[in-house]
Amino acid sequence: MVSDAVVTPDDIIAAGERIRDMIRVTPVKHSASLSAVAGGPVWLKCEHLQHTGAFKLRGASNAAARLGDVAGVTTASTGNHGRALAHAARQLGLPAVICVSRLVPRNKLDAIAALGAEARVIGASQDEAFEEARRLKREDGFALIPPFDHPEVIAGQGTLGVEIIDQIPDAATIAVPLSGGGLLAGVALASKSRRPDIRIIGISMERGAAMAASLRAGRPVDVEEVATLADSLGGGIGRDNRFTFAMVRELMDDLILLTEEEIAAGIRHLSVADGEMVEGAAAVGAGAVLAGKLRADGPLVLILSGGNIDPARHAEIVGEAK
Ligand SMILES: *Cc1c(COP(=O)(O)O)cnc(C)c1O
Repeated sequence: MVSDAVVTPDDIIAAGERIRDMIRVTPVKHSASLSAVAGGPVWLKCEHLQHTGAFKLRGASNAAARLGDVAGVTTASTGNHGRALAHAARQLGLPAVICVSRLVPRNKLDAIAALGAEARVIGASQDEAFEEARRLKREDGFALIPPFDHPEVIAGQGTLGVEIIDQIPDAATIAVPLSGGGLLAGVALASKSRRPDIRIIGISMERGAAMAASLRAGRPVDVEEVATLADSLGGGIGRDNRFTFAMVRELMDDLILLTEEEIAAGIRHLSVADGEMVEGAAAVGAGAVLAGKLRADGPLVLILSGGNIDPARHAEIVGEAK
């Protein structure tokens, strides 16, 4: 167990009750084709079918629902966390300001606005956008809800682990897409509290994986950000990481790294063989199985963590020759 735990299994149960009406219980689906490759039963946890298209709604909803008297919520993420927080804030009747840099494309701003939040364009970089979020917290009474390194966010993501154990009680292994580690920490804590023997495998891309580099270094380190098909797995874990680094180090049983081609193969296979359209980050479990890096010694659950991919890009990847 994590010493001096800041998140407990009971926190995850409480989170599940708190966000019950804000999220959907997503289905699990058997994959015959991946089972044949993996040598045992493979289940897909279809969290790409969550509202806003990713599991991030769980953590954002739990954190936002716990707030007392605040002027609103803010963050600087333009990806799945920004969407999730905008959606959660609307459910709760709270104003949301998502701070973005001038580099963020119009369609992303429109998507945030469509969820009822303000997309505040400020600064020339992600760092400057984040500075505005901090200012809103400091001066205007907003709550700044980060994408992963926050106890209530981790507890919210953990509700996905509870669902998996309810749906596949004999799961032997859960494969978890890994970036900042909020998802892995929550899912591992929830599932191991009920099934101490379950194995939790993290999967990231080979290049630019900050958690992998930090685990090697023994402390949170920055990595150079490089373009990857698994764009939701990019970004740092924060040099001042407080929770997820220690939890991942303690709770993760193994880490698999994938090449870009292996991630593309996962996207393609899930589309062609299983009929699921997922983004790169969500395809790493399938990619690992197809690459022969992950076998099913007992029931294997792959978390399809999100589906937010540009449809034209998806069609291109699926159409590419193997
Ligand atoms: C954020 C995200 C992840 C990684 O979650 P962490 O908590 O940062 O490790 C994986 N997949 C998708 C689709 C995401 O949006």
